[in-house]
Amino acid sequence: MKMICVGRNYAEHARELGNEVPENPLIFIKPDTALLKDNQPFYHPDFSNDIHYECELVFRVSREGKYIQEKFASTYLDGVGLGIDFTARDLQNEAKQKGLPWTLSKCFNHSAPVSNFLPLDRFPDLQNIHFECRINGDTRQVGDSSLMIYSINYLVAFISRYITLKKGDYIFTGTPAGVGKINVNDHIQGFLEGEKLLDFQVK
Ligand code: MG
Repeated sequence: MKMICVGRNYAEHARELGNEVPENPLIFIKPDTALLKDNQPFYHPDFSNDIHYECELVFRVSREGKYIQEKFASTYLDGVGLGIDFTARDLQNEAKQKGLPWTLSKCFNHSAPVSNFLPLDRFPDLQNIHFECRINGDTRQVGDSSLMIYSINYLVAFISRYITLKKGDYIFTGTPAGVGKINVNDHIQGFLEGEKLLDFQVK
């Protein structure tokens, strides 16, 4: 499986990192080795001093498709959950300055903790899903899919023009403002419509 991720999909987050809002969705991929499941602890890697959390809505793909029309996009999805797009911001900034790919800063081992998924049919309006990220009990990020620049349906259509979606793939939909550095011993929690789905430690 692959994890297809969208960058800069919330205007306020693009601004907080000093980035332009992109003309088209900014897409990158995390490999399956980035996945961290079941709220297992995240071990802070030694190659970065600035790992940022980015809490995001994640959708699960239910069947194979390419050139999917936007109006049928939700029929290719069956679950929504939360994920953290861990980013080695120091490595990413260096890559950005040099015009080089973000690969190492985004794709390292366990850089993608993902929660269990809730059935999509519990969410009649995909453009009105609320979520929240807490670090050590403090609310740091509040997001709502209504604030996404590109909706999940648009993203499914856009991505599938270039990359075939397969059953079991995940789509990370971008992070709202409020990202920040994590430290060893931090406690990360994510809530989807008030339901706690992410709950793990940084070690
Ligand atoms: Mg992200």
